[in-house]
Amino acid sequence: MVDQLRLEIDETEALKPLWNQVLQAVTGSLGEEVVGSWLREVRPTALQGGRLTLAAESTATRQWIERKYQRLLARALTEIRGEESDVEVVVRKNGRAPRAEGREGPARPAAAARPTVSALFAPLPLNDRYTFENYVVGQSNRFAHAAAVAVADRPGREYNPLFVYGGVGLGKTHLLQAVGHALLGKNPRARVAYVSGENFTSHFVTSLRERREEEFRRAYRSIDIWLVDDIQFIADKTSTKEEFFHTFNELYLTNKQIVLASDRPPRELRLMEDRLRSRLESGLMVEIGPPDLETRMAILQKRALDEGVELPSEVLYQIAQTVTDNVRALEASLVRMVAMASLTRSPITAELAGSALAAFVREARRVNVSALAVQKAVCEHFQVTPEDLVSARRDRPICLARQTAMYLLRELSPLSLTEIGQHFGGKTHSTVLYSCDKLERHMREDPSLASEVRGLRSELSGG
Ligand code: ADP
Ligand code: MG
Repeated sequence: MVDQLRLEIDETEALKPLWNQVLQAVTGSLGEEVVGSWLREVRPTALQGGRLTLAAESTATRQWIERKYQRLLARALTEIRGEESDVEVVVRKNGRAPRAEGREGPARPAAAARPTVSALFAPLPLNDRYTFENYVVGQSNRFAHAAAVAVADRPGREYNPLFVYGGVGLGKTHLLQAVGHALLGKNPRARVAYVSGENFTSHFVTSLRERREEEFRRAYRSIDIWLVDDIQFIADKTSTKEEFFHTFNELYLTNKQIVLASDRPPRELRLMEDRLRSRLESGLMVEIGPPDLETRMAILQKRALDEGVELPSEVLYQIAQTVTDNVRALEASLVRMVAMASLTRSPITAELAGSALAAFVREARRVNVSALAVQKAVCEHFQVTPEDLVSARRDRPICLARQTAMYLLRELSPLSLTEIGQHFGGKTHSTVLYSCDKLERHMREDPSLASEVRGLRSELSGG
């Protein structure tokens, strides 16, 4: 109570002493240098429900602090306040520190410690940065971008549903949210709901558990624009899929715009029923591919500009050449570079770029382990024969070995899924994809399997 009253008067001033105490506490383990270069500039902006919000100067600093110091800061804060506390880092906007609750887009769920009735099924917040203005258009995403713009201009008309698919980090989420921002820009009262497949699943499960199905339906059926991300994560349960289909239908039949994103086209979504699949395919399907060099350069340039850093063009080129198939990795390498330059207080030169990129070079270096080597290692490890591995046998140990081999081959060779399938007695592209997914799921559930697979992987890739 007291905290809140004071916060209203001048939140920043009121929080300074607390923040100084935290800084003092962490100086011992981090050293003056780190505190001076990373944490001094940070401003505390809010304290709510035990969570201290800190505003950093740039995305780069925010990410760096989050990665390196967040846990330590939270621990220090917990000790000082004598109760469980947490720290979140946001980027300061236009030199004015945002309030903890004001930084999200208009679709943000009601932020309450205990979810209120509607917050239970609230959509996810939109990221301020994911707008059309910030989207760089190139050969690889031109069609997807044009479709998204058309949908934002005329929702619920000719391109409904719009289905965007493509690999990780290629800009699907960004495009989906850009549609949301654009529509909210035109009509701030539009009920734009951005959810992920996982989100939908968990909302549905909650509604069953809490006997609030009615409320769930009301929340979902009142949507004007439905943006569903990562629909491959909708749980493979009949009831969930049914509910998804009904929600989809209800909105679709009342001409509400639906935009969906997935890492694969509808026909490869094993979880989709035929009737839903044909609905999806009757709309517009657009693929986003990996960006070409020119687009990568343009994305980096834009991002550097946003971060307020100047990058020599040779450095831009160096990054764009090194990190090739994922925009997220491209941005991460830029952020890493900016962080490094700021930490060592040196300008970003080709040399600095070289060492910041070293890790990426290692990752990006075409590992090329042969199918034979992978199969041999897997057979030895799982004690199965090479014949079993390429057979159609479904015994559990053999399946597991086969899935592992396919997964490793996908990770460690440039082979396409179809080519991998050929090394396993002519299995199809989607069988390979399915096997890899399955193994990933096993690995998430079983840490010891995960570490076995990692072991095999590093054995094969030589480190
Ligand atoms: P996906 O959902 O396909 O995995 P995201 O939309 O999350 O990928 O994109 C990953 C990151 O790359 C985001 O920070 C996003 O802003 C950025 N990004 C992707 N494509 C572009 C683009 N064409 N222009 C600008 N930024 C992009
Ligand atoms: Mg995404």
